[in-house]
Amino acid sequence: MDRDQLAEHLKFAAELGVTGTSRDAAWRTRGTESATPPPVSREFFQSEATPQQVTFSKTPAEALAAVRADIGDCTRCKLHTLGRSQIVFGVGNPNADLMFVGEAPGADEDVQGIPFVGRAGQLLTKIIEAIALARDDVYIANVIKCRPPQNRNPEPDEVETCEPFLFRQIDIIKPKVIVALGKFAAQALLRTDAPISRLRGRVFEYRGSKLIPTFHPAYLLRNPSSKREVWEDMKLVKSILKSEV
Ligand code: URA
Repeated sequence: MDRDQLAEHLKFAAELGVTGTSRDAAWRTRGTESATPPPVSREFFQSEATPQQVTFSKTPAEALAAVRADIGDCTRCKLHTLGRSQIVFGVGNPNADLMFVGEAPGADEDVQGIPFVGRAGQLLTKIIEAIALARDDVYIANVIKCRPPQNRNPEPDEVETCEPFLFRQIDIIKPKVIVALGKFAAQALLRTDAPISRLRGRVFEYRGSKLIPTFHPAYLLRNPSSKREVWEDMKLVKSILKSEV
C-alpha cells in the first residue's frame, strides 16, 4: 500500500468511527487458513434439474461451478425478458468464512457480470478492507442474479425462483458469518418485514451460519453518518470470525 492509499484507508476508517488499531495478530489475519483447499472427505450437494436435487462434487469451487452451470442462461423468471444482459452469479473465495449478500445486480454489475462493482460496491470493498480482509478473501452474491428493470425491488416470484440458487451457494461455502446488506436482503433471507434499523447489528442463526444484517452500502452513500453503525456491525462480524465456534 503506498502513502496515498494508506492516507485514504485511514481517512475512511476515521469516517467509519475507528478510534484505534489492534496489535492482536489475529485481527490482521487475512483468512489464509480459509483459502487452503478443503479436506478430501468434504463433499457437497449440487443439483441437476432443480435447485433441490442432489449429487456429489469434490470441492466448493467445483460445486459452485456446477450451480452456475445449472443456472445456465436462465429463463426461469420474467427478468430475462426485462432487459438483463447477463446473470451475476457471485464472486470470491469458495472457502470463505465471510459472505456478503446484497439485493440484486445494478447497471454496472449487469454490464460486468460481477456483484458490487459500482459506487456501492467500491464502498463495500472499503468496508471489507476496514476489517483487514480483501475482496478475494470473502464471497459476494445477491438474493437474485439478474438486474431488475430501473433497479426496482425484486418481486416475490423473482425471489422465490432465484433464491434456491443462493441457498445452494451458502450451503456449499458454509461461511461462518453472512452479512445481509440492507433491508431487502435481510428481510428476504430472514422472512420478516421488520425494519433494517431493528435487524441490524443482531446475530441470527441461519443455515448453519451466523447472519448479521447491516445497512446497504448504497444507503451509506446517501446517509454517511450511518457508517458508524456499520463499523459496529463489522466489529461484531470480526469478533465472530475470530472466535473458535
Ligand atoms: N446492490 C446490490 O444489492 N447488489 C449489487 O451487486 C450491486 C448493488
